[in-house]
Amino acid sequence: MNLSLRIFTVFGIPVELHISFLLLILFIYVLAFFNVISIQMAVLITLLFVTVVIHELSHSYVAKRYGVNIERIVLLPIGGVSAMEEIPKDPGQELKISIAGPSANFIIAIICYLIILITTNIISKDIYSFIYDFLTVNLVLGVFNLLPAFPMDGGRILRAFLARRVDYVRATEIAANVGKYLAIIMALSGIFIILNPILIFIALFVYIGADQEYKLILISSLLKGVYVRDIMTKNVITISPDTSISGALDLMFMRKHMGYPVIQDSKLIGIVTFHDLSKIPEGKRDISVSEIMTEEIILSHPDEPVVKTLEKLTKYNIGRLPVVKGGKLVGIVSKTDIMRALEILRARST
Ligand SMILES: [Zn+2]
Repeated sequence: MNLSLRIFTVFGIPVELHISFLLLILFIYVLAFFNVISIQMAVLITLLFVTVVIHELSHSYVAKRYGVNIERIVLLPIGGVSAMEEIPKDPGQELKISIAGPSANFIIAIICYLIILITTNIISKDIYSFIYDFLTVNLVLGVFNLLPAFPMDGGRILRAFLARRVDYVRATEIAANVGKYLAIIMALSGIFIILNPILIFIALFVYIGADQEYKLILISSLLKGVYVRDIMTKNVITISPDTSISGALDLMFMRKHMGYPVIQDSKLIGIVTFHDLSKIPEGKRDISVSEIMTEEIILSHPDEPVVKTLEKLTKYNIGRLPVVKGGKLVGIVSKTDIMRALEILRARST
């Protein structure tokens, strides 16, 4: 599900606005329009937007110098998320990429401060408060992102330091736990001390972010060095395109698998799943599988790292991929296979 809107492209990186940020900006301007809040508040939110963009571009700029491909930048109200193809696991590089964002904010804050110092008594009060607001927004965003907890930059900086002493997964776990505790403290203070819904919202974002980051790192480290050929089912049961729907359902009942490659003249022409079959009403189950199968098939290769396969399965929200080598179907790999492998690898590593 894509909840972001593409707004522009810089350095060849598409910049997208997350729906929550878009709604916040719209909401603020509607409030300003009806004089519920001052126009200054609306301007402040716009400045926040500009600040987040600069912050995120700074990360991306440094990451690009290390050869990391940036797919897109998603802007959220409390910061941005750069969708990097792969965040470098070299602690030194990660440190520099993470520190670039808050640094940019602090540099802007210093420049604003200098402008205020130099131009006192010269500029009008409106321009002065505008610069002052910009300074404040940059300072707040810079400091917030330095909190030593995932998913903030500070969490990455903390992990980079920890990763020099303990292994990468353990370092991630510690930084993620700090993030979760911090989120719980934030949420509790948001509820009991200052009654602030924004704080509760941020706490929720931090908690989910910390948890996701840890799981992602754990999975990719467990699956390191595991290839599709190691876990795929080799003796694939296939189905012919002229099998009827009820025939295919009978096969599923007997063979227990929930998806089958459709083969014609030893060529893979589609894939059919229980989900596809179950959509056909009972009276129409004499039509053939070829009429309802998925013809655009996403493939895997025996030498593909399982992490890549899992990414494909998640991205397209599918349960299994046919494994093809030299144009021939050699196996099938499913989400269940990967989950089972993960469970075993996890048990073996502890
Ligand atoms: Zn950042």
